[in-house]
Amino acid sequence: MVIVGAGMAGVQTAVALRDQGFTGPVTLIGAEPHQPYDRPPLSKAILLGKAEDSAFDVDFAALGIELRLGVEVTGLRAADHQIDTEAGPVPYDTLVVATGAHPVTLPGADGVPGTHLLRTLDDAVRLAPVLESGHAVVVVGAGWIGAEFATAARAAGCAVTVVEAADRPLAGALPAEVTAPMAAWYAESGAELRLHARVERVEPGRVVVSDAADPAAATEELPADAVVVGIGARPATGWLADSGAALDPSGALTADDRLRTSLPDVYAVGDCASFPSARYGTRLLVHHWDNALQGPRTVAADILGAAHQPYDPVPYFWSEQFGRFVQYAGHHAAADTLLWRGDPAEPSWSVLWLRADVPVALLAVGRPRDLAQGRRLIEQRTPVDPARAADPSVPLKAAVR
Ligand code: FAD
Repeated sequence: MVIVGAGMAGVQTAVALRDQGFTGPVTLIGAEPHQPYDRPPLSKAILLGKAEDSAFDVDFAALGIELRLGVEVTGLRAADHQIDTEAGPVPYDTLVVATGAHPVTLPGADGVPGTHLLRTLDDAVRLAPVLESGHAVVVVGAGWIGAEFATAARAAGCAVTVVEAADRPLAGALPAEVTAPMAAWYAESGAELRLHARVERVEPGRVVVSDAADPAAATEELPADAVVVGIGARPATGWLADSGAALDPSGALTADDRLRTSLPDVYAVGDCASFPSARYGTRLLVHHWDNALQGPRTVAADILGAAHQPYDPVPYFWSEQFGRFVQYAGHHAAADTLLWRGDPAEPSWSVLWLRADVPVALLAVGRPRDLAQGRRLIEQRTPVDPARAADPSVPLKAAVR
């Protein structure tokens, strides 16, 4: 058993194989030299100086998992059941691809001194002195990573400007009416959020932006001792270009509902793989931690011939930003109704999406009980009474019809 990628999904696959009784050899190969670690703390506790590292608490030796770290896999020859690495070919009986995602870079900004990404432990270590210096920081992108970095930078006393080309934060993730209250969180923390601000170029010490809503307007220079780019991530599958594996237009490996790829004996899991969701009637590519925890259990079960259920999770993620705990479960694209639970001007509120009165997604800000109960209703497809579900004083489970 060979697993490529020693992040959350790769490590969890190795652990799940042992948990489920696999006794053969397991080799886990990862490009990063560090002991495998968890990514969410990178933009939270580690940046805030509250934790030094986030290595997984897994005793690989005791589990009989061979770790090969600092080894990049460069190709896959499915007909030979071999992968190529810098250190030579490695044969496999079954291969699990868990190579995650690479951050999208800003054209022209790569290599400009003071420009950073935030995906790896090395990135976080490089960013720590930026925060300590309390300098002016420009964050490109008001998505999840941009918001979490801005939170840490404000806590460290940096002057923070977040530039976002869209007309609101999280434009790709949530509808306008839901993100509208979130824009205020930036100002409240002392960060400046510049919407419609398109980056023209990054130069040492400054970011030049234009007005995306008014192309005739003059460009503007924003002073920047450091620039942090958080504009999304793409599946890390470039090394599979000649493998013959089916890839989505996004670059994700196209997996089936057991997370098998189009190549024999090759699985894909985590940020690098899309899968068909019967629950939501569409193919999902989920770039969140919970998917890298759940998917490996299906992969291990299928390898051992014990997967009785297709992989069809209710996606879940959380974010910690501007002093708030934000959680989301489900997929709201096909919803027909959006209900507010509470006032978004208050510290805690939720949004529930329904389709024919059945909850399909939920966003909870500081309401973890809504999330827990709503997630269960979504999983079990339990219809609710919309009027009661819209009353924040009624527990969601008590709104069941
Ligand atoms: P990855 O964690 O990307 O691991 C893939 C590994 O494969 C990497 O170590 C990479 O070096 C290695 N690799 C890639 N290519 C090769 C190759 N060719 N050869 C060998 N090795 C290779 N999700 C949430 O739900 N909540 C959060 O709060 C949250 N916070 C986050 C904060 C940050 C800063 C980041 C970056 C992500 C966050 N996420 C969060 C997302 C979550 O961490 C990811 O969804 C999860 O890490 C995906 O796990 P993965 O194993 O699929 O991929």
